[in-house]
Amino acid sequence: MATTSAVSDRNGGCTCRFVRYRLTSAPLFVHCCHCRWCQRETGSAFALNAMIEADRVQLLNGAVEVVDTPSNSGRGQRISRCPTCRIAVWSNYAGAGEAVRFVRVGTLDEPDRCPPDIHIFTASKQPWVVLPPGVPAVAEYYKASERWPAASLERRAALMALAPPTRS
Ligand SMILES: [Zn+2]
Ligand SMILES: [Zn+2]
Repeated sequence: MATTSAVSDRNGGCTCRFVRYRLTSAPLFVHCCHCRWCQRETGSAFALNAMIEADRVQLLNGAVEVVDTPSNSGRGQRISRCPTCRIAVWSNYAGAGEAVRFVRVGTLDEPDRCPPDIHIFTASKQPWVVLPPGVPAVAEYYKASERWPAASLERRAALMALAPPTRS
């Protein structure tokens, strides 16, 4: 049995199945971003991104093509896409650098297991999207130190010790 492309709660990939990856642990934090940039990039109402250390994203099959793309911050994001079907599987933003990947939750085989920890940029939320009670929501962005669980902050501190980001 090939195990590398097996469905699991932490496996994912593109639509043509050339790119298959596995998250080797739970993510740090999951963003549901309602900014206009994410709306345009997804063609939808929001983007769902699981932030995780780059070295916890294991490529099981294929390769990604990195596309430099403008971003809201003006400093760009690097979107990793399948070279064949062009589905975006993760991004790196200038702020968090190469150390943290923003994995597109919808590319996981079981995206239901990765609900958002916070809704961000709700100032531009499409009005028909009704946010669930009990999940934090902020008009724009937030401070990780105020919102992330302790275990994720510890993981973040370990990353920053290795490669300090250009902004917190
Ligand atoms: Zn593909
Ligand atoms: Zn966004």
